[in-house]
Amino acid sequence: MAALERMTHASLPPNVMYPSAAVTAAPLSQPAATRDLRTLLPDELAAWVAGAGAPKYRVEQIFRWLHGQGIDSLDEMTNVPAALREALGADHPLTPLAQEVVQTAHDGTRKLRFRTHDGRAIESVLIPDEDVARNKLTLCISSQVGCAIDCAFCATATLGFGRHLGAGEIVTQVYRATALAGRRPTNLVFMGMGEPLHNFDNVSRALALLEHPWGAGFSPRRLTVSTAGLVPGIEKLGALSPAPNLAISLNATTDEVRSKIMPINKKWPIAALLDAARRFPLSHGRRVTFEYVLLAGVNDSDADADRLPRLLRGIPAKVNLIPWNPFQGPAFQRPGAERIRTFQERLRAADVAVYIRSPRGDDIDAACGQLAAREPIQISTRA
Ligand code: SAH
Repeated sequence: MAALERMTHASLPPNVMYPSAAVTAAPLSQPAATRDLRTLLPDELAAWVAGAGAPKYRVEQIFRWLHGQGIDSLDEMTNVPAALREALGADHPLTPLAQEVVQTAHDGTRKLRFRTHDGRAIESVLIPDEDVARNKLTLCISSQVGCAIDCAFCATATLGFGRHLGAGEIVTQVYRATALAGRRPTNLVFMGMGEPLHNFDNVSRALALLEHPWGAGFSPRRLTVSTAGLVPGIEKLGALSPAPNLAISLNATTDEVRSKIMPINKKWPIAALLDAARRFPLSHGRRVTFEYVLLAGVNDSDADADRLPRLLRGIPAKVNLIPWNPFQGPAFQRPGAERIRTFQERLRAADVAVYIRSPRGDDIDAACGQLAAREPIQISTRA
């Protein structure tokens, strides 16, 4: 755990700033003295506990309440003296994250919508494995309010950039989903709203909090950060010890097409992106996931299917094909079933590990690229 302890706020690298006109708001920065209690790593909490003159064992106790039990109020820390709880809350209040709505899709996927302390809506999606026997429960979490990256095919992009989520707001999504599901998700993916590597400081801090054995204790092998392709961010992610899994939203096989649908490609084109993927540290048996949204007539040709394996040569990779999930706005189309199958077959014939990601939760707009925190039509629970 020494590596985690070393990852203090001060030593984390600065944000990757994507030079987009949409990036207007600065990250929510709070002075250290009033920082959200949930963002504190054990060594920071230890400094506060020492400063308060309390015994050292309080550090583990408090951290376990916050990140193991996922409590929402300091009053729930029943074995911590009231005076200490009060002093802690005065210096480090718990930033509220109101759980507003839970929607359940026909396939059992659940979408959670939260309201931040400053009135912004964010969403997380709980996805049980289609094969119940596998017992897998994946939670897809958001890293930003809206997104600055502006991919042409993505609903979140239509919101523009709101702000970065704090590490506390990121991990709280996990604790709320855990309470709702009645068990801890087995896998966490940063594939909700936002570009996680644009919010590197808070995301890397959230990873450290989620991995800590006093808290949720996630193995980094169960954590996946997905990026639209911020090359310096991929490098910083790879430098974390331990590094989580990396997923890259590739979505095209030529710079011409990729730059049209993902403007970030003009800054970091395919060759630079794949170089970064090649350099990403992979422990034994691990692979980089490449997401590929299939858009009819845009990136789903046989020529694309034949170029893709050549691009990925030398990278331990797996490809997730995501047939485009519609939302109101752009004139894209999902390819027909036959085209999707052919595309997959051509990749398979070239020895690429390729899967088709089924559109889980699409009847409640919870599938990939549909998260836009709009008012739900059908409400199953109110919390
Ligand atoms: N910003 C990060 C995290 C979001 S992950 C990233 O881009 O990787 C969301 C995934 O859904 C990405 O792979 C994205 O390419 C894909 N996606 C976006 N809009 C989509 C849509 N309408 N249908 C299917 N997939 C979509």
